[in-house]
Amino acid sequence: MSLVIIGSVAFDTIRTPWGDREKIVGGSGTYCSLAASYFTRPRVVGVVGRDFPRKTLALLRSRGIDLAGLKVKAGKTFHWEGKYEEDPNRRTTVRTDLNVFAGFRPEIPASFRGSRIVYLANLNPEHHEFILSQFRRPALVAMDTIRLWIDTKREALLKELGRVDIYFANDEEARLVTGEANLILAGKALARLGPSLVVVKKGEHGALVFGRDFVFGVLAHPSEHVIDPTGAGDSFAGGFLGYLDKTAALSARDVRRAAVYGSVMASFAIEDFGIGRFLGLDQDLVEARFRQFRKLTTF
Ligand code: AMP
Repeated sequence: MSLVIIGSVAFDTIRTPWGDREKIVGGSGTYCSLAASYFTRPRVVGVVGRDFPRKTLALLRSRGIDLAGLKVKAGKTFHWEGKYEEDPNRRTTVRTDLNVFAGFRPEIPASFRGSRIVYLANLNPEHHEFILSQFRRPALVAMDTIRLWIDTKREALLKELGRVDIYFANDEEARLVTGEANLILAGKALARLGPSLVVVKKGEHGALVFGRDFVFGVLAHPSEHVIDPTGAGDSFAGGFLGYLDKTAALSARDVRRAAVYGSVMASFAIEDFGIGRFLGLDQDLVEARFRQFRKLTTF
């Protein structure tokens, strides 16, 4: 079992119509590794400043997350600020302070180099090559994107899509990359660019998984109280890849179950600000929600 997540470990300032939070813990690597920790022992590669709370690092370790690849550097931790509208699927980035993340050239510790699954979370696609060259022979490479890289590094992004196995995008990103308004056509067009699996997330409506010869739809948990949608995408990826790492298989059935676990983990992430919902979350609650999904979709 070995899943490496290379991503941001951050402070987020979140503004929603229901309340605000200043500089709470977030980051793609944080959400993804917490979600994956219910299935495997994820490894994290990232960088934080000296201002990052030790007790959060202790919390991540207590979930079995290996932080050998997380550097603590002099300076401030990456800070992102986002604002949500009444419709939780609509979010605007207010500011991004890269801080110590600016010069981040991820070095993969020797103990991580033989990992089976590599996840490149929200990274500048120009850095993928350097990162991947440090791994021996990963069985699966997955990536996702944020709008910033689609707008500013399009060429590099398209090139990287040609060499990853799994691509996670949300509906807006899928449309932006392909120019297709229809999500089915967009998903298929993305699969033609290279990845053997494309996961298009549709916020509160769930996700579509495009394989070589199948399309699978998974619902989002019907949440009535979305507190903070931040991290839903990363938590989906964490549940999905964590489950695939645990099962060590890749049949269409495994992929479908992975997508349901992805949706389960995303549904927890949005029930509180930041990583709050993961604090008291145990394995039984995860399995109970998985069973609820089955009930919800069996007919
Ligand atoms: P998600 O809601 O799953 O799309 O991801 C939100 C997380 O991405 C937040 O916790 C942010 O800290 C992180 N994030 C936002 N912008 C960037 C960026 N440019 N690079 C890396 N991580 C980012």
